[in-house]
Amino acid sequence: MYNVIIYARVSTLIQAEQGYSIDAQLEDCRKKAQELGATNIEEYIDRGKSGKFLERPELQKMLYNIKHSETNYDALIIYKLDRLSRDSMGLAYIIKILQQNNIKIISTDGAHYGTNPQDILIMQMMGSISEFENALRKERSIRGKIEKRRQGKIDKVKKYGFIYNNKKKNFDINKEEAEIIKKIFNWFTEERIGAFKIAKRINKLKIPTPLPSKNIHIWHENTIRGILRDESYAGTMHTMKYKFEKISIKKIKKTIRPKSEWIDVSVPAIVEKITWEKAQEILNDNKNNKRNTKNIWLLQGLVLCNICKKPMYIKQTITKSKNTNNKVFYFRCRTKIYNHAGLPEKCDARSVQVNVVEDLVWNTLLKIFYSKETLEKYLKRNRKENTENILLEELITKRQTLLNKKNTITDWFLDGKLEEDIATEKLNKLNMELDTLNLRIKMLKKNATKQPATIESLYNKFHEVNNPDREKKKEIIQSVDKIYLERLDDTNGKYCVPKLKLNIILY
Ligand SMILES: [Zn+2]
Repeated sequence: MYNVIIYARVSTLIQAEQGYSIDAQLEDCRKKAQELGATNIEEYIDRGKSGKFLERPELQKMLYNIKHSETNYDALIIYKLDRLSRDSMGLAYIIKILQQNNIKIISTDGAHYGTNPQDILIMQMMGSISEFENALRKERSIRGKIEKRRQGKIDKVKKYGFIYNNKKKNFDINKEEAEIIKKIFNWFTEERIGAFKIAKRINKLKIPTPLPSKNIHIWHENTIRGILRDESYAGTMHTMKYKFEKISIKKIKKTIRPKSEWIDVSVPAIVEKITWEKAQEILNDNKNNKRNTKNIWLLQGLVLCNICKKPMYIKQTITKSKNTNNKVFYFRCRTKIYNHAGLPEKCDARSVQVNVVEDLVWNTLLKIFYSKETLEKYLKRNRKENTENILLEELITKRQTLLNKKNTITDWFLDGKLEEDIATEKLNKLNMELDTLNLRIKMLKKNATKQPATIESLYNKFHEVNNPDREKKKEIIQSVDKIYLERLDDTNGKYCVPKLKLNIILY
């Protein structure tokens, strides 16, 4: 019995025209298989469409089957070694899997690549050569790009507020969207409304989002901040800003090139330079303020709304005064922040000042941890139940899919098949999805993997330090799994003492 796999790939139209076509590859490969006396042939074919989002699902399927199927494959037939992977890192990865399964690589020109060290070295060298050719090609394409930009031309790319003009290879202003941009800058610099409130305001007006997709159909504060930071709106678009590098089979490094390497292209301005600069000042101020208060939130990520069981987020109240040192922060139910399609209606939960909750939680913990007996008694009533494991697995699979997509985009970018701006746009979108996913996985993992701690260790951890500072307190509070919070009173004002219902769940 001779089990053979055939893998064929065509990535661009150009290659197809150069006689690399899938049919030609397959014909050669099948012939080879017959020569070898194969009795069982499996075929995996990846067809590419230039410029479109692409994956190599068949290659992945093939590797999966090699690893998991019961068939013992003898050989993999390919047209040329570069069909497998264009970079040596990817090739090394594929070879490793083939090697582990004792599968020979045979190319249609008759070259055999076995599994001995010499052959592996030759294969890796060939991979390096094809990688080098790619680098050359990329450099040439970058030089062409630079020339194009110097002439004031940009790549076709979607940017909110603009329409790409194919003739002049630059933007025209999209009047409707430009109005929104102007409003955003005006609200931010003149009325001093924060990015979060602006997003909320725009969502209320039901204005379509810059990048509509299945999952993202509301404006986020980050979208707003992205717009405020974007100098294109003041007439200067920075291009060649990012560099993508593949540092391992799964990791892509996106780095900012030194400013001297950026190429500025003039585009039609939507707001005045002076307005844009003012926005930068405010943004930088905010950033510095945020940095100072970072790490001191004892309960961040732990507090859930007792009414709807959704997370409560820390939000700053918008105070009319310009005194930045007098900020008040509140825990606010998520449904009151992002109230958009897909989420339940706003719940009735009232917001509670963060410091009030922190004090109450700490004092409650002091009571619970008063002695080992009090702790044991509390745990008997309040230990959390372990579910959610299946969901976690699903999310992890989904994350892998997204990571693969990212990988593919980088592949395509590195191969010179995808413009930088389009790659950036796609990667940004994926990163946004990944961020959300990672956060959920992190939350679930925290629940699923931690073994319930012993009373002894919980108690000791709590009493380790006599007068814990905030940092130490935060560490101690990590033994809290979640806190359900509900405000029961109906008083108003900064100085009234709210009546709170609290349910602390320990690990
Ligand atoms: Zn709620």
